[in-house]
Amino acid sequence: MMQRARDLDAADAIAHFRDRFDLPEGVIYLDGNSLGPLPKASRERLHRVIDAEWGEGLIRSWNELPGGGGDWIAMPQRVGARIAPLVGAQAHEVIACDSVSVNLAKLIGAALSLNPGRNVVLSEPGNFPTDLYMIQGQPQVEQRLAGRDEMIEALDESVALLLLTHVHYKTGEMFDMERLTKAAHDVGAIVLWDLSHSGGAVPVDLNGANADLAVGCGYKYLNGGPGAPAYAFVAERHHGDFSQPLTGWFGHAQPFAFSDEYEPAEGVKRLLAGTPPVLAMAALESGVELIAEIGMEALVAKSRALSEFFRECVAGLDLDLVSPREPAQRGSQLSFRHENAYALSQALIARGVIGDFRDPDILRLGFAPAYLRFADIAEAARHLAEVLETGEWERDEYSTRAAVT
Ligand SMILES: *Cc1c(COP(=O)(O)O)cnc(C)c1O
Repeated sequence: MMQRARDLDAADAIAHFRDRFDLPEGVIYLDGNSLGPLPKASRERLHRVIDAEWGEGLIRSWNELPGGGGDWIAMPQRVGARIAPLVGAQAHEVIACDSVSVNLAKLIGAALSLNPGRNVVLSEPGNFPTDLYMIQGQPQVEQRLAGRDEMIEALDESVALLLLTHVHYKTGEMFDMERLTKAAHDVGAIVLWDLSHSGGAVPVDLNGANADLAVGCGYKYLNGGPGAPAYAFVAERHHGDFSQPLTGWFGHAQPFAFSDEYEPAEGVKRLLAGTPPVLAMAALESGVELIAEIGMEALVAKSRALSEFFRECVAGLDLDLVSPREPAQRGSQLSFRHENAYALSQALIARGVIGDFRDPDILRLGFAPAYLRFADIAEAARHLAEVLETGEWERDEYSTRAAVT
């Protein structure tokens, strides 16, 4: 397998991008779907923001940077415009701000504003928790949950919003965005897609699917750094009509008029609430630039090749794959069910193979294509085989849970 891996690496046209990341020695990182690694350019960029833009420029940097370049005030729009082509959106339809959770609250509100008279938000049981919690936190909303096979049936004329995560965080299973969006539109519902496990990893065509609203995560495949700002999409056709509940001053038409009355800004700018976190935005911008430079087509092709190669490498092992077998129907991850998944993930981490565990019994391995080598995949598979065959995971120390899994 190692020779095959080396051949695949030699033929990989985007292999050199690995050097653009700062990856620790001795680690095979299969968790870029949870926290992307550090791009070398981000370290430089943050130093520049701290020393020149903040240190020297002080408040002047909101409008103009020492030595030129993009100012601070337009960062949410500028970074949003950079993300847009990665998810099939137009530049002015995407804005980078807040967390996924906060943007969900804003866009659930936006959906209700676009669909007055309806109050049901439909989602699936087992969706990412924050998506469901944000539905439950809206006092006027009635939550309805339906399994994947019953989703279309559960759509009726009481549904204001269908809120789904495109690629499931645990299983990696992907929804057919176009089909479900159409089904929702057929009953007059708005659709909100959570792209947290999609953006930068799988093909997404929001406008091709006629999507209404979307959110996505900045710190997973976009490598924007821990707690990076998220992004939000509103289709152009809704720009005139939507409102959102977090009516902060940055979403005002003229924040620096300091008027007493809220008046929404045009388009997605009205999704802004408060002052953008400049350091975090700068790291996100740098991460997004790198992903855009590599290009989605090459990333998607390599993601599929990496995960298929891993499947080949572990074909002889007794593992229960819960992700779809067809690469085009899953995200950039493979999830395996094992009753001791937590201990297995810990034993792998002790060997330098960092994947993760998702409650109650899922070992989740992410295959971020921007920096992984086929040789890493072969090595990771070898470690997994050894851990399983030797029963190494049965050691006591591997069963103690940490706060973050
Ligand atoms: C990672 C993730 C989030 C993260 O939300 P935050 O508010 O940024 O913590 C939300 N939804 C899904 C589906 C995710 O995978």
